Amino acid sequence: MRAEIVSVGTELLLGQIVDTNAAYLARGLSEVGISIYRRTTVGDNRERLVTALKEAFEESDVVLTIGGLGPTMDDITREGLAEALGDTLVQNEEIAEGLRRFFTKRNMPVLESNLRQALVPVHGRAIANPNGTAPGVLFEKDGKIGIALPGPPNEFIPMTDDHVLPYLRAKTGNIGTIRSLVLRVAGVGESAAEDRIKDLMLDSNPSVAPYAKVGEVHLRVTAKADTAEQAERMIAERAHLVRERLGTAVYGENDDPLEKAVVHLMTERGLTVSTAESCTGGLVAQRITDVAGSSAVFLGGVVAYSNAAKTDLVAVSADLIARVGAVSAEVAQALAEGARKRFGTDYGIGVTGVAGPGGGTEEKPVGLVYIAVSYPGGCEVDKSNFIGSRAIVRHRASQNVLNMLRLRILNG
Ligand code: ATP
Ligand code: MG
Repeated sequence: MRAEIVSVGTELLLGQIVDTNAAYLARGLSEVGISIYRRTTVGDNRERLVTALKEAFEESDVVLTIGGLGPTMDDITREGLAEALGDTLVQNEEIAEGLRRFFTKRNMPVLESNLRQALVPVHGRAIANPNGTAPGVLFEKDGKIGIALPGPPNEFIPMTDDHVLPYLRAKTGNIGTIRSLVLRVAGVGESAAEDRIKDLMLDSNPSVAPYAKVGEVHLRVTAKADTAEQAERMIAERAHLVRERLGTAVYGENDDPLEKAVVHLMTERGLTVSTAESCTGGLVAQRITDVAGSSAVFLGGVVAYSNAAKTDLVAVSADLIARVGAVSAEVAQALAEGARKRFGTDYGIGVTGVAGPGGGTEEKPVGLVYIAVSYPGGCEVDKSNFIGSRAIVRHRASQNVLNMLRLRILNG
C-alpha cells in the first residue's frame, strides 16, 4: 500500500512552524509497513490543494492530509479532499448537535462556520476527536482512501495513534513493519565509507544508505519484514557486516553523538581529560560536559584565546609563539601538554586555528586548524584544512578533537 502525506498550511510553507506532525505520521506509517511515496506541503489555497491531492491520488492508495480542518475561511482541507475525490459532504446531525452543545455550554454563539466541522463525506465518516472541536475525516471512494487530520499536535497525535494507524494496519492486513538503525561513523568521509560497503548498498532489503553530516557520516540500515523481531534480526546481521568493514570508524548508534561515545569509553577505562582551546572557544569542553556523567572524566579546561592567555594559563612559551605563530603544530602541542600538566589528567587536548571568516593569510588560511592530543606515551598532532563558515569550522574542529581522542584511547 502506497501513501502520500499532504501537509496544509501557509505557516509551514513560510517556515514559521516545522512539520513535526508529518514526521510523526511518516514514522507511524512505516511501522505499519506502508510505503511513503511523497510528502507535499501546500499553502491554504483551495485550488493548489486540490491539484496536489489529485496528483497524490494518481500515485498512492492512501492520501493523508494534516491541518486546515478548523472553522475559519482558510480551513479548506475537508472541501478540498471531497473535490479531489469527487465526493459530496453532508451535515452529520449527531456531530452538529455535539458542536451546538459545546458552544452553548460556553455561552458562545453557534456560527454557520462552526457547523462546517459537522460535514462528513457521503463515502466515508468522521473520526472522533476527543481533544478538539474538529473531527477528522475519512473518505473511502473508488478504492482510494483519503484521511484528513487536524493540525494541532495535541489533537493530531492521539487521532493518529488511536484511530488512523490501527485502521490502516487492519486495511493492510498487517503486511509487515519497517525498522531502521543508524550507525554513526567518524574520521572516514562519505565516499570512503561508501567504498567499503558498496556491495552491501546494492541490496534493497535490508538496505544500507549513507547520509553525510557535518564532520561525520550516518549509515542507515533499514529492513522490512513481517514482524518486528524479524526486521530487528535482519538489521543486526547487516549492521554486524558494516561494522566489520568499517572497524573503529563506527563510534555509535542512532541519536548518540560523538561526545557521548568518548565519555562512555573514558568512564569505562577510568581515564581523565582536560582541554586548552583557542579557536573552538570552549566548544570541546561544552560538548564533553553536555554528556551526563562527564564529571568522572572531564577535570577542567581553559579558553586560551589570546597569546597572553596561552602563556599565563597553560604555560605556552611566549618565545615559541613569537617564533612559529599561535596557529601552529608546536603551539597546539604546547596547549595539550600544558592542559594535561595543569589539570593532572591522563589526556590533554590543544586546539588552535583560524576559524574565519577573516584573519586568514596565504600561509595560514581560514579553516587551518591544528589539534593535539597529549597522552601518557607522547603527543599526537593533526593538521586540517576545514571548509565552511566559522560555525562549521569550529564544529568540524571539535569533531576531530573528539574522534582523535577516541581513537588514541582505542589504539592504546
Ligand atoms: P484549528 O482548528 O486550530 O484551525 P486545523 O486543523 O485547521 O486546526 P491548522 O489551522 O492548519 O489546523 O493548524 C493549527 C495549528 O496547529 C498551527 O498553528 C500549528 O501550531 C499546528 N500545526 C499545524 N500543522 C502542523 C504540522 N504539520 N506540524 C506541527 N504543527 C502543526
Ligand atoms: Mg486552522
